[in-house]
Amino acid sequence: MQMFLFTQTTPYRDGDLDNQIIVHEYGHGVSNRLTGGPSNANALDAIQSGGMGEGWSDWWGLMFTQKSGDQKDAAYPMGTYVLGEAPNGAGIRQYPYSYNMKIDPHTLKDFNASAEVHDSGEIWASALWDMSWLLIEKYGFDPDIAGGYSAGAAGNKLARRRRPTLTWRVKHGSASTEVAPYGSTHSGCWRVANCRGALKRIVAQTR
Ligand SMILES: [Zn+2]
Repeated sequence: MQMFLFTQTTPYRDGDLDNQIIVHEYGHGVSNRLTGGPSNANALDAIQSGGMGEGWSDWWGLMFTQKSGDQKDAAYPMGTYVLGEAPNGAGIRQYPYSYNMKIDPHTLKDFNASAEVHDSGEIWASALWDMSWLLIEKYGFDPDIAGGYSAGAAGNKLARRRRPTLTWRVKHGSASTEVAPYGSTHSGCWRVANCRGALKRIVAQTR
């Protein structure tokens, strides 16, 4: 795990002291090992797969710093501390994360606009964040994240258990998405033009 000093402030700020960044970097270890296995840490090194790795890490950073009073349509920026910003600052990503697409307008269409892996990751994290809020809306929020998941757990714990997988397919200048939710009761695929819309549709169904 490689951590960095951020040089935008005097004195510099250490990413080790930013909870979201610690969770993000630790998340890379988890997603790489879950994808490639314990002896292959290089399975997420292309722009799409690497973007999913960055997205999972941002999403975990968001999920592990959620509070009971958080609101679905509010803005949740990443890494404001290391930039010396207030907690409601712009953060290190292009937009703060939000279910509200007026705050975070990312869709899969943006994949064609940048070949930078964190930009790619923002799209995937936005979709997962939407999914999480829909599950929280339906099944509630439990601040006891250390307690882990058990049957009937609240939406924020259920979101981390579901781990839907996504294959991005971009062809002929238009983007389409295949989404295969994790779990035996949801083995179907949904194809839509907007990955955020896709996940909202999945979560509208039952667990
Ligand atoms: Zn990262």
